[in-house]
Amino acid sequence: MNYVDFKIPKTLAEARAILTELGGQAMPVAGSTLHVFLRDESPKVGVDISRLGLGQITDAGDHYAIGATTTVADLHAFSAPDWVLDRVAEAFVTQPIRNIATIGGSVVRVFPWSDWPIPLLALDAEFVITGEEERVMPAKDFFARQPFHHLQPGDILSSVRVPKKRSNEGFGYYKERRTTTDFSRCTVAAWVSIEEGTLADARIAIGAAVPMPIRMAAVEAALKGAKPTAAAIETAVQGGLEGVRWKGLHGISDDYAQHLTVVRMVDALQIACDEATAQLTNETGEQA
Ligand SMILES: Cc1cc2nc3c(=O)[nH]c(=O)nc-3n(C[C@H](O)[C@H](O)[C@H](O)COP(=O)(O)OP(=O)(O)OC[C@H]3O[C@@H](n4cnc5c(N)ncnc54)[C@H](O)[C@@H]3O)c2cc1C
Repeated sequence: MNYVDFKIPKTLAEARAILTELGGQAMPVAGSTLHVFLRDESPKVGVDISRLGLGQITDAGDHYAIGATTTVADLHAFSAPDWVLDRVAEAFVTQPIRNIATIGGSVVRVFPWSDWPIPLLALDAEFVITGEEERVMPAKDFFARQPFHHLQPGDILSSVRVPKKRSNEGFGYYKERRTTTDFSRCTVAAWVSIEEGTLADARIAIGAAVPMPIRMAAVEAALKGAKPTAAAIETAVQGGLEGVRWKGLHGISDDYAQHLTVVRMVDALQIACDEATAQLTNETGEQA
């Protein structure tokens, strides 16, 4: 990156005004950790968005509203029974990078190693973009292409809404890497809801082993109405792979990327089902 100037606005309106006026010459800067990977050498004005008051996690009833400049360290430290993103943050690189990288900066530009799009797809998160008007995009649309293409000059991703996990719901997450600081070879996140001993709904998302993070729609459809058993999960996963374009990263073949992801999809779904079942059993036990 080639910064020729740096602005430090104090309000969202001020930041938006600068970004709107400078258009393509300006770039929001949150944690700035991505900039070592960007090859754009055209002169840019960096607009620091870390002091706009967007760094909080707020309990908003049925969901958590996560300000876009909340750091991964804060997502890691936050704790509540209906909160699962600490598990994702735990597997995110190293503590020094967790201290600086933000949730917003981690989703606006998606790279093969990006962890966050996958759990946010599985959790059906929503993305709040503040522009001339505020608009809200579901994760499925937000990640349907590179998210920065949704942003006009002056637009800022202001928060991410993550539904709370209810007592009949479970979450599973896997990030496969060779060392704890390594990039992912395959990332999988699963969310399920169980009603009367049956899978009422399921969402599963994968990344790193495919060109862009995706939801596995055929697997999800096959799971709906099934019993949360190992056999049913295996059948749904094996039967729902058609049309997926596998892409092995960092020295693994496309075939191995597929194999690894299939294994971890089954594992993540099983963890999610076990978690939901255990919570429901606890509730019933407490009531009895
Ligand atoms: C050595 C290293 C290893 C890493 N490994 C991984 C890994 O394994 N997995 C992983 O997921 N991440 C990893 N990361 C982090 C990842 O690559 C990004 O650097 C990071 O997520 C970006 O967050 P940031 O807050 O620093 O964003 P920045 O670098 O400040 O910004 C990133 C981009 O998003 C834009 N932007 C930021 N916030 C907003 C906003 N609110 N609204 C609009 N646009 C915005 C910026 O203009 C920029 O284009 C690694 C980083 C490093 C340095």
